[in-house]
Amino acid sequence: MRFDVLTIFPEAFESPLRISLLGKAIEAGILQVGVHDLRDWAPEPHRKVDDAPFGGGPGMVMAPGPVVEAVESVQKPGGRVLLMSAAGRPLTQALAADLASHDQLVLVCGRYEGMDDRIHRVLDAEEISIGEYVLSGGEMAALVLLDAVSRLLPGVMGNARSLGEESFADGLLEYPQFTRPADYRGLKVPDILVSGHHANVVAWRREQALRRTLERRPGLLDSAPLTDAERQAVETWRQQE
Ligand code: SAM
Repeated sequence: MRFDVLTIFPEAFESPLRISLLGKAIEAGILQVGVHDLRDWAPEPHRKVDDAPFGGGPGMVMAPGPVVEAVESVQKPGGRVLLMSAAGRPLTQALAADLASHDQLVLVCGRYEGMDDRIHRVLDAEEISIGEYVLSGGEMAALVLLDAVSRLLPGVMGNARSLGEESFADGLLEYPQFTRPADYRGLKVPDILVSGHHANVVAWRREQALRRTLERRPGLLDSAPLTDAERQAVETWRQQE
């Protein structure tokens, strides 16, 4: 899979793309990432990518010319274009899984007050938000998306099994995890996890995932694939709250 990132701060990607899973995936050739300076498509002599907003108001807006031309020069046939935007479609695990099936994603990082609204129409691009808050630029958002999508690619995670057990993989939050020591400052690991009884551990983890989701993100339970018995148990816990 290939990512092409367009930004006025290419240096923001240097270190994150060198470390951990992303760094290894790039080194192994599973992932290719091209980071491009948007100013390379901006007019000389000032290489300005922004201009004042029509209608007045604070700040500057990213002009369509450099962004559209930059995308058109790096996009390959079938490549999908995503504009990082606080007003975009929320990035979820399901969307990350869908994006992971593409051969190329072109990510555009906004700055200033955002991008001219004609850009997404000209490029047939989708705006993506990583959460309900405003960042000062799209670079971190692009890195979040890049990370979330890349770890779903075959060969990127050392242990692919972890993917199936993580939060959101089955519509629930993940069960609580523990490691050594078994007793830390008087807080003991649940007995069942040191019992060696695999089936009981699996059942306990499933129940914990359900309880945790009910407590922290109850809305997820509406669409999570639960058995009838699990739905009934959740209903009982809900009434006990
Ligand atoms: N005026 C814009 C608004 O109110 O939605 C915010 C612009 S923000 C200061 C500059 C850039 O940061 C945006 O163009 C976008 O690329 C990026 N950005 C900010 N928050 C984001 C978020 N939650 N998700 C994705 N990108 C974000």
